[in-house]
Formats: sequence, C-alpha cells, structure tokens
Amino acid sequence: MALRVAVTGASGRMGQAVARAIATEPETDLACLVARPGSQLIGSSAASIVGDVNCPITFSDVLDLDAVDVVIDFTFPESSLVIACACADAGVPIVIGTTGFSEAEQADLESTLASVARCQAANFSTGVNLAYRLLSLAAQVMGADSDIEIHEAHHKHKIDAPSGTALAMGQTVASAMGQSLSDVAQYDRANEREARAPGSIGFSVTRAGEIVGEHTVLFAADGERLEITHKAGSRDAFANGAVRAAKFIANKPAGAYTMSDVLGLS
Ligand code: NAD
Repeated sequence: MALRVAVTGASGRMGQAVARAIATEPETDLACLVARPGSQLIGSSAASIVGDVNCPITFSDVLDLDAVDVVIDFTFPESSLVIACACADAGVPIVIGTTGFSEAEQADLESTLASVARCQAANFSTGVNLAYRLLSLAAQVMGADSDIEIHEAHHKHKIDAPSGTALAMGQTVASAMGQSLSDVAQYDRANEREARAPGSIGFSVTRAGEIVGEHTVLFAADGERLEITHKAGSRDAFANGAVRAAKFIANKPAGAYTMSDVLGLS
C-alpha cells in the first residue's frame, strides 16, 4: 500500500509543490491537504493543484490523522508547533520544512516530538545537503586562513533572514572549525566603523523578485578564493527531498533524523 501523506500549509508555495510531488511519486498517496483556517481554498478540489483531474482530495482546515502515515509541514513556526502536538498525540511521524523558529520554539518543538520519528531540515534539496559536506571539508582545510562570508538570496515574500539554510551553512562551517556560530556570526555591519573581525563569519541577504533560493559561502584566503554555491531552480528540489524524507522516516522508530540520514551521507 502506498504511503498516506498529509500536507499542512497546502495553500502555500511549498505545500502545493509537495502535494504535486506526492501525487507524482508512485509510492505515496495524498491523504489530506490542510490549508490555514479561513483560506478560500477550503472545500475546493486539489485536482488543479496536483495536475490530476481524478484527484479525490479537497482542501480542509482540519488535520485528520486517522488514516495518515506521515505529515509534511511547510507553514509558520507557530502553526508547526500546533501541528507537531497533533502528530505527537497521534503517534504520526512528521517532516518539518518550516524555518524561522526562535530558540525557545525550537526547544519546544523538539520536546513535543520526542515520542515520534521526525525529520527537520532548513533545506530539503539534495544539492544543499551535499554542500554541507563540502563546506565542512573546506572549513577544515582552509577555514582558519580565510575570511568567510555567506550570502543568500530569496524571493521578496520570505520573512525570516538570514535563511535557515544560510544559518545551517554557518553552523556547519563554524562547527568544522571547533567554534559556535553564535560566537563568530556577524549579521549587521551598518553601525560599525571598523575592519572585519578576524575569524568572523559574515552574513548578507538579498530579498527580490521570485528568486527560489541561492546560497554562496566564500572562503577568501591570501591569493585565492573558494566559493561554494547552490542555486535552486524551482521548489521541486525541496518538495522532492521532503517526500524522500517522509518515505525514509515513515516506519522508523522515534528519533530525530536528518537529511544526511535520508541521503545516506551520515
Ligand atoms: P507560504 O507563505 O507560501 O506558505 C505557508 C502556508 O502555510 C500559507 O499558505 C499559510 O496560510 C499556511 N498556514 C499557516 N498556518 C497554517 C495552519 N495552521 N494550517 C495549515 N496551513 C497553515 O510560504 P512557503 O514559501 O510555502 O514557505 C513555508 C515555510 O517553508 C517557510 O518557513 C519557508 O522558509 C520554508 N521553506 C523551507 C524549505 C526547506 O527546504 N526546508 C524550502 C522552502 C521554504
């Protein structure tokens, strides 16, 4: 039997890409599409969204987990926390793509989900998760001799900055050099009149148009520069990865699984 997947945030850009990916993947079935309460989509057919006229699913504002094997959530942090509670109560695994959790919200999320299998990633694309491995290597080999800067660009609708992926890249680089990102991150230079702090990791952000997601980590050493860049061409990269993660965790024991686990990079 195909894996029955519920999508929360189904009225959103990522939710709709995930719904299409589930409908396209032979091993998964759309079980439930949840839009935010009050959405105009409630009650309407998902056929046009998933590109299948025979799709029997309609948008709902209720997450009914009775006949669901796994949930994929791309919403807002406060919504994800409510959805996580429902999954924990019902013992249903969850893939969380939402970004922008505060430290307190992240701690709350982790304790709420302690009893179920879950996979949370700031970026579900295969290329980005491979980039983490490359960044770790680059940081070990030339990080100590380089100025490290991270630039990310996203569409004008994105509300959190820097992106969760940029922060995860920063964490990867910092921890490969035995540091904590919070000690070395430099997010804002607008009010500073001084040269770059040695050992810092600088962040810069672009919000414009409909850019899906671009990240570059620059290692600038004496006489040479290394740039590791990932560009997402469409949301399908994230949606396909999230569906792959859902298939991976669906029958796993309770625990926090990473995309490295899903992709066999651990
Ligand atoms: P979006 O605003 O288009 O979609 C979010 C949707 O969630 C909205 O339609 C909203 O109405 C809906 N929603 C809010 N509360 C809800 C609830 N309680 N139940 C059901 N639906 C609810 O945003 P988006 O571009 O789709 O991104 C969503 C999140 O995913 C953001 O945090 C974004 O940063 C993140 N994201 C993650 C990845 C990844 O690979 N992890 C990739 C892209 C985006």
